[in-house]
Amino acid sequence: MFSNYQYTVTERFLRYAQIDTQSDPLSDTFPSTARQKNLGRLLVQELQAIGVTDAELDEHGYVYATIPANTDKPVPVICLCAHMDTSSDCSGANVKPIIHTKYDGSDIVLPDDPSQVIRAADHPYLQGKIGDDIITASGTTLLGADNKAGVAAIMDAAHFLIRHPGIRHGAIRILFTPDEEVGRGVEKLDMQKLGAQYGYTLDGGELGSLEDETFSADAARITIQGVGIHPGTAKGKLVSAIKIAAEIVAALPARPPRRPKPPKDAKVSFTRYVYREPWKARRSILLSVILLPRNWKRMSSCCAISWKQCCNATRRPAPPWR
Ligand SMILES: [Zn+2]
Repeated sequence: MFSNYQYTVTERFLRYAQIDTQSDPLSDTFPSTARQKNLGRLLVQELQAIGVTDAELDEHGYVYATIPANTDKPVPVICLCAHMDTSSDCSGANVKPIIHTKYDGSDIVLPDDPSQVIRAADHPYLQGKIGDDIITASGTTLLGADNKAGVAAIMDAAHFLIRHPGIRHGAIRILFTPDEEVGRGVEKLDMQKLGAQYGYTLDGGELGSLEDETFSADAARITIQGVGIHPGTAKGKLVSAIKIAAEIVAALPARPPRRPKPPKDAKVSFTRYVYREPWKARRSILLSVILLPRNWKRMSSCCAISWKQCCNATRRPAPPWR
């Protein structure tokens, strides 16, 4: 069955990666950027073409679709979920994915900016991929594997199941969401309409890994107003907003307390990512405090390569979880 199947995941991924779906943390609209719907529209067309007839893109940018049940057994409805947007921290326009066939274990130099090198020594994970094909960006943009790899995997799974009706299964709901990278991905989600009892988000790390809990993270925005005054008469009067901010940051626990577990009857959970605001250090500053999730290292592992490339490219400091 598998040996005869022509996988479509790679060509799908290459196609989706070239569609700019960056979300915008500063936008008040939903979805935060209209361009995310461009991928949504394509996914609906492709789902309908393979026979998933109820595929639809709603006004908020969610794609809902169903692979109908082909068994009479009373089995739960499950959901396969992935987000369509990409991070706002690095350009998602004009992405040129490159396939490095039969990876030989050496450093990978990205051609559009040869200073961008994915070093095997920095990514021990790559040693387990020798002989495999590896897809990277070209050096000036993100790749968008987070999470178009998940989108492509779900699309190929749908294609496979439709082509192989002998595989018995219950109803499978497909959900593609916008704005996950800006922490708003489930804001307008209609859980009633989704109608799934269990959900799997394909947005993770290594092949075969499964995470059975997720986190809640939140952000607080604090504006600190200092007191500016001429240095000649400043003694006892000048108040540095930056110093107050430093005191607040220093008072935060290095290891946040364990978050409470979700209620036992929570059936579907979705990841929400944290994001940072830039520091603005003048007389008054805007301070964004991020409460890092307890298992933040694991949760961000899927972004490892793209984050590094992204931060190098833009000369910004690495995010705190790298
Ligand atoms: Zn993701």
